[in-house]
Amino acid sequence: MVTLIWILATIFVLAAAAYFRAPGWTWALAAGVSLAGLTVRGALSPAVTGSLWTLLIVASALLLIAPLRRVLLSDPLLGWFRRVLPAVSQTEQEALDAGTVWWDGELFSGRPDWGKLLSVPKPVLTAEEQAFVDGPVEELCRMCDDWQISYELNDLPPEVWRFIKDRGFLGMIIPKRYGGLGFSALAHSEVVMKLASRNPTACVTVMVPNSLGPAELLLHYGTEEQKNYYLPRLASGLEMPCFALTGPEAGSDAGAIPDFGVVCKGRHEGKDVLGIRVTWEKRYITLGPVATLLGLAFKLYDPDHLIGTEEAIGITVALIPTSHPGVSIGRRHIPLNGSFMNGPNGGNDVFIPMDWVVGGQPYVGQGWRMLMECLAAGRAISLPSSTTGGSKTAVRATGAYSRVRSQFRVPIGRFEGVEEALARMGGNLYLMEAARVITAGAVDLGEKPSVISAIVKYHSTERARQVVNDAMDVHGGKGICLGPNNYLGRGYQQIPISITVEGANILTRSMIIFGQGAIRCHPYVLKEIAATKEADRAAATAAFDRAVWGHASFLVGNVVRSLWFGLTGARFTPAPGAAETRGHFRRLSRLSASFALAADMAMLFLGGDLKRREKISGRLGDILSYLYLASCTLKRWHDDGRQQTDLPLAQWAVEDAENRIQEAFYGLFENFPVRPVGWLLRLLVFPFGRTFRAPDDALGHRVARLLMEDSPARDRLTAGMFIQRYEADPVGRLEVALQRVAEAEAIEAKVRAAVRSGAVREFAAGERITTAVRLGVITAVEAETLKRYDELRRACIMVDDFPPDVGRHAAAEPVSIGAFEEALVVRKTA
Ligand SMILES: Cc1cc2nc3c(=O)[nH]c(=O)nc-3n(C[C@H](O)[C@H](O)[C@H](O)COP(=O)(O)OP(=O)(O)OC[C@H]3O[C@@H](n4cnc5c(N)ncnc54)[C@H](O)[C@@H]3O)c2cc1C
Repeated sequence: MVTLIWILATIFVLAAAAYFRAPGWTWALAAGVSLAGLTVRGALSPAVTGSLWTLLIVASALLLIAPLRRVLLSDPLLGWFRRVLPAVSQTEQEALDAGTVWWDGELFSGRPDWGKLLSVPKPVLTAEEQAFVDGPVEELCRMCDDWQISYELNDLPPEVWRFIKDRGFLGMIIPKRYGGLGFSALAHSEVVMKLASRNPTACVTVMVPNSLGPAELLLHYGTEEQKNYYLPRLASGLEMPCFALTGPEAGSDAGAIPDFGVVCKGRHEGKDVLGIRVTWEKRYITLGPVATLLGLAFKLYDPDHLIGTEEAIGITVALIPTSHPGVSIGRRHIPLNGSFMNGPNGGNDVFIPMDWVVGGQPYVGQGWRMLMECLAAGRAISLPSSTTGGSKTAVRATGAYSRVRSQFRVPIGRFEGVEEALARMGGNLYLMEAARVITAGAVDLGEKPSVISAIVKYHSTERARQVVNDAMDVHGGKGICLGPNNYLGRGYQQIPISITVEGANILTRSMIIFGQGAIRCHPYVLKEIAATKEADRAAATAAFDRAVWGHASFLVGNVVRSLWFGLTGARFTPAPGAAETRGHFRRLSRLSASFALAADMAMLFLGGDLKRREKISGRLGDILSYLYLASCTLKRWHDDGRQQTDLPLAQWAVEDAENRIQEAFYGLFENFPVRPVGWLLRLLVFPFGRTFRAPDDALGHRVARLLMEDSPARDRLTAGMFIQRYEADPVGRLEVALQRVAEAEAIEAKVRAAVRSGAVREFAAGERITTAVRLGVITAVEAETLKRYDELRRACIMVDDFPPDVGRHAAAEPVSIGAFEEALVVRKTA
């Protein structure tokens, strides 16, 4: 019995050493003390005792005596690693090298330091940035009439174009010394988000020049001359930029563009200069049809060795005025009825001088690296902001509509089926906003988070797709019939654009998030790979030795941590923050350790094949993503002052993420190509089977209610979006109706009671109300309130209809709502 306790104690001590990732000598010491105890007690046969001592001494010597370990273990391992390491192309390598690692590194560590995350200051706007959001951005939103833009003009009206250029919207990322606004990433994100909540065309028009394009490239790599000339012109709207990478043959595989340039001599402005003859065919280029400055990516060749010894120089980026002879640009695509400018462009053998290359001749061949570096930050802002803005409008309007629209004499939002959709919308939006703000804050702290930017891009756009689908379902026909009063249809139509651009989502999920994350964020893999590239054998072995044994201890530690957390439900692990969220922090610590373990097992057993196993990589990417999104959600709740009324939203989002992580793990266990590893992982990660569950109905009910009430929590959920509480504005009308619905319902209830008692007969509504007033059931003032509310309610539920030639007559006048609006005195209630 004593022997058994002794052995169990030894296992416990070794497990503790693994859990805390203790240095190797503590393992050897613990094992030695244990074996000594067994030897003294004579608990084992002499043969077994002798074998165990030999094993311990040999293993300790091999692992603890560094020179011995390097020669006998690390060096052969390095040779094997070099052989199995998959080939990485230069474009892949440059993508991997781009950007920085932030909270994603903590999640990969299996031991995230929550205190570190919570201590990151809440991102806030400066007074100047806030004034811009409250002033010009608000005004621009007011100027945008979506129906006029998307149906009548298929373009922004000239005064809106002028306003965008004159008020500096195109130069938000350009520093003030060049005439730009010099905004933070958060301010940039706030502007894009607010515009998206009002009008997608204005949003894209502002978003694109502030994203990856000429301005961003010039800021980082331009020559002083290029910066001094172009940046002030771009900031003031004198130049309209576009950036052209994609073509018919190269979309997702953008590194394979067939567009090419050949270094040669030619004449430019009357002089013989060194330059490039460029041939290209691009498509889908946003702002292309109105651009004056084309940022062009092509592959450069120097067959005559005019600038060096290499012939194939690589992807190069140049800025070409669109007025330059030979540039063909101006035609438009129609991207799902989006009215922003988008179209193809091309050129055949167009000569450009060498100093049009961004950064000049020293930067030829650097294009892919430049693009990847800029994408790391830009992708974190544009689509997360625009999709969150659009979702805010959808959520706010749907919550109000669900209260105002009744069927079966019940507001539709009170039906449990609709509640489910509303709960998803609220939870998803809370999480999207959290990720948007915290990621923009990270960019402002100097991060260029390449993996996180892929996570937020993918998940914001996917959640927005879910939000708009839910909004459409809840609105029924009201969302479907297009016209000036439809505030959902265009967003619904255009959501696939956000899914496709800046890295199409299927590719982003299945290749990029985990593929890049595993190498960039893992605490040891990058170091191991770097060691394989070290030319000096001794230095390579020393570096590899440090990395690989650190990795081994990390792996063993995560085995123990996973199992321990699985057995205890992570109840004993420390967690920060408020009592309401501490359990979630613990669960996320548990899932992070299990994720680190699963990631290592996948890399160990699948090696280079993991690159092709996109279903496995996709699931691992999902786990990493949900860990990040749940982290942001918890941080947001703390940053927002731990508002109790917002708690259902945060809880819904985190419970949903935890449940999705669990399901991704199960998908991994059940499909892991090496079946015993799948079984083992399942045992280590979920020893008691599934323990997480999706948000329950009661929680969903609380979230849905929150969306249907005019409350500070609803305002916080949709903060920063554009709202006008006017009856003439289709979304604003719902706001006014929501403010009045409770009062109207109370009056209506009195009338209904009188109908039920037989005092008032159920004829037409007007007559019912007149009788109710006559009989003193309600007052004349209440009757007027009810009548006015009913007009408003009807305006909220009505859709537009048109003359029979709709579609052929450019400015077809809607009739039904138009008539209502004429009769309506526009009242500004807030
Ligand atoms: C409205 C709009 C605006 C745009 N603006 C610009 C712009 O301003 N400048 C610019 O250069 N480009 C722009 N683009 C191009 C955009 O970046 C590309 O559309 C995108 O890169 C995808 O390329 P593709 O459409 O050719 O799809 P494809 O590359 O043909 O992809 C088709 C599908 O295959 C999937 N896929 C491809 N490879 C893999 C893989 N290895 N693993 C898993 N799935 C994979 C993709 O995820 C996608 O679902 C724009 C596109 C649109 C639609």
